[in-house]
Amino acid sequence: MEKFVYDFAEGNKDLKDLLGGKGANLAEMTNLGLPVPAGFTITTEACQRFLAEGAHVDGLDTEIDRHLAALEATMGKKLGDPGDPLLVSVRSGAKFSMPGMMETVLNVGLNDESVTGLSRQAGGNDRFAWDSYRRLIQMFGKTVCDVPGEEFEEALHDAKVAKGVKDDVQLDAGDLQELVTAYKKVFAKHVGHEFPQEPRQQLDLAIEAVFRSWNADRAVLYRRQERIPADLGTAVNVVAMVFGNLGPDSGTGVAFTRDPATGESGIYGDYLQNAQGEDVVAGIRNTLPLADLEKIDKKSYDELLQIMATLEGHYHDLCDIEFTIERGKLWMLQTRVGKRTAAAAFTIAHQLVDEGMIDLDEAVTRVSGAQLAQLMFPRFDLSGDPAPLTRGVGASPGAAYGSVVFTSEAAVAQAAAGESVILVRRETNPDDLPGMIAAQGILTARGGKTSHAAVVARGMGKTCVCGADELEVGRDQFTVHGQVVREGDVISIDGTTGRVYRGEVPVRPSEVVQYFEGDLDPALANEPLVAAVHQIMTHADERARLKVRTNADTGPDSARARRFGAQGIGLCRTEHMFLGDRRELVERLILAHTKTERDDALAALRPLQRADFLDIFREMNGLPVTVRLIDPPLHEFLPSLEELAVQVAVARERGEEAERDTRMLAAVRRMHESNPMLGLRGVRLGLVIPGLFAMQVRAIAEAAVALAAEGGTPRPEIMVPLVGAVQELETVRGEAEKIIAEVVGDSGVQVLIGTMIEVPRAALTAGQIAEAAEFFSFGTNDLTQMAWGFSRDDVEGAFFWRYLELGIFGISPFESIDRDGVGRLVRIAAEEGRSARPGLKLGVCGEHGGDPESVHFFHEVGLDYVSCSPFRVPIARLEAGRAAVESAGSDHR
Ligand code: PEP
Ligand code: MG
Repeated sequence: MEKFVYDFAEGNKDLKDLLGGKGANLAEMTNLGLPVPAGFTITTEACQRFLAEGAHVDGLDTEIDRHLAALEATMGKKLGDPGDPLLVSVRSGAKFSMPGMMETVLNVGLNDESVTGLSRQAGGNDRFAWDSYRRLIQMFGKTVCDVPGEEFEEALHDAKVAKGVKDDVQLDAGDLQELVTAYKKVFAKHVGHEFPQEPRQQLDLAIEAVFRSWNADRAVLYRRQERIPADLGTAVNVVAMVFGNLGPDSGTGVAFTRDPATGESGIYGDYLQNAQGEDVVAGIRNTLPLADLEKIDKKSYDELLQIMATLEGHYHDLCDIEFTIERGKLWMLQTRVGKRTAAAAFTIAHQLVDEGMIDLDEAVTRVSGAQLAQLMFPRFDLSGDPAPLTRGVGASPGAAYGSVVFTSEAAVAQAAAGESVILVRRETNPDDLPGMIAAQGILTARGGKTSHAAVVARGMGKTCVCGADELEVGRDQFTVHGQVVREGDVISIDGTTGRVYRGEVPVRPSEVVQYFEGDLDPALANEPLVAAVHQIMTHADERARLKVRTNADTGPDSARARRFGAQGIGLCRTEHMFLGDRRELVERLILAHTKTERDDALAALRPLQRADFLDIFREMNGLPVTVRLIDPPLHEFLPSLEELAVQVAVARERGEEAERDTRMLAAVRRMHESNPMLGLRGVRLGLVIPGLFAMQVRAIAEAAVALAAEGGTPRPEIMVPLVGAVQELETVRGEAEKIIAEVVGDSGVQVLIGTMIEVPRAALTAGQIAEAAEFFSFGTNDLTQMAWGFSRDDVEGAFFWRYLELGIFGISPFESIDRDGVGRLVRIAAEEGRSARPGLKLGVCGEHGGDPESVHFFHEVGLDYVSCSPFRVPIARLEAGRAAVESAGSDHR
């Protein structure tokens, strides 16, 4: 028999797939003997079944009956009992945390009768009982029955106006009892029947609503953004209620065992006295720093610290927790390995190594290339000492500026129009998600590091400042310390310091980039972040099997990439050397009528190319440099057909001489292609235009010999693009070998000749091609283009949004390798290439070489190196190290 329900004592932290993160960790804490209210978890499988079948899951009811009875026995009360009711919370909890995206219903079990029982239980506290009841109707109405939340808020507002008070806490028991009546009317009006009084029915409906909330729009959007699979489903936790709103000796809070923004050790968190449930997370009321709890309730504070130490020691990581204090008794409501900023991820991993909690291998897996990329963003340059408008909590680091918008819709619309915007809200809620995604940064007036805005922004790596001082947010302007900032005005927000500035503050490079560049201010060398990056990168390099090269075609780019740790050049695109003032020479080459004209043009290009190569070889002295022979269609170097045609027509009209333009027009017409990316380019050019490849090969060999003569060690590799058949490569190779032998003589210089694998036919005949190639480099840009039949220059902007929406792929295959299709071609070519020529060197130089996910794939396939743009070299190094550590880990298992 399938089992759909687990008591907390039956689960553990490794059952996240089944029990969700919250359920698994509640179970783990229960088993650690920590004070967790009793409860049970309904599995993600039950949710999947419910969503698939659209209703009732056979057998679930009976299991819930049994576990509810056990819960009632443990607590010594019955659900909704009129005299002494057991109340429960019904909380969502998926495998991956999706903060605020799904639903929770608290106080289930309250009705017109048990509200009196609750009051008696609370020592005659009527106010508390009626407040709990009105919260249930509100949450239940919104979540379970889709009653618009504003209607409840309006009723609450009316109650406060009627009483002449501003704050909820000024409403007394009688006011709240009336509010319950008002809420029930709102409920009945929208739902068509009265608020359900039967506790068990409330529970069942709440459970189903949580199941359904898996498919709420905002949850779907969040999953797409975070690449969480759509079919996991959520678990549901049914937990005995404990109350943080029973008076000043009660309260609720959230805490982190280390600072999730910087990683510094010490406890961090927020506490709200006399408050319930989501009040802290929602950022609705301004919270106290957790340290203040020591003064309010020392016993609970000390116990909390003890528990936090236990949890860190157990999970070996930063934990975040939610807790409630009910009349001086501490209860743990949740824990999980906490989300953190990129800087904190590095710093914490480094600290945990120092503290002996984890080893260096583990530390490498605790950070990611995407996080490293975030640390390489620039920061504000405050040397002009701009005066901040205000300051809030630096909730998610980064430097962002843009024009102010006040709604999620405006953020989406203006970002779509290409503007950079800062979304300013009093506080955010899950409905603001589209605007948060579209904005450069988020600024809120309320809430702390654990508010919705902060948690979601950190997850997205987006700059966010929360709870800004004195910030009053209006409809189309905000005021702060007497200043007015209107919609459309530009502000800058610093997610690290929490400062907010008017206007655009200039930005400066990150210290992590300075560290990689080797020009770090010595004062920063001991910064925890720099020390952490140094330690983790050093270890990643030690572990990595994949080498990391760079795509560069100038001396300065090569030098920078080398400082960033590149172990050579994997792709030097020679066509970039034919632009600017050299374009004219290329035109001469293309327009040449006679052999002499062509030879002259080539002879003029050769010394220029040689100088380019020598520059690069010098910078990469001792390291391999793969130079690719010219690849793109030649008309890319010529003026546009339309412009030329107009020029010639106008000249004719005027009776002017236009001989050059006329010849050019004829040439451009001659070379015009309907599908140039599938036309005369790559190796085909070399076979069609006599002397072109020969000139390049000679320039490469000459530059290598020149470096050797200077005492250097050139390691040139000549790469032929767009090969689809071994015969193409053999032809080029035959000619190249002769030239190389002639130029190199007895200088000792060695030149390898290899090919790109970027045409599907090349991948499928790799065994034959390997006979003529000393190395393969996968051109996954073209390979993706040709495997999918997607024009790489057009499709991403044209229709990929629809493909992403339909889930045909989760990410553009031009960004991250399509393992099943393009990846399969890579695998086949690698295997067949290596079996034909053992020791064949294999690399990748398409954009995927710097994409974290793809690097793991290339590691698995057994390539020798990846090559990527200079800025992505550190990211690829880290991912290469992680891939090696992870695959060693899975071999052990
Ligand atoms: C490729 O196709 O992957 C490649 C690296 O070459 P290019 O992008 O220059 O076509
Ligand atoms: Mg290509």
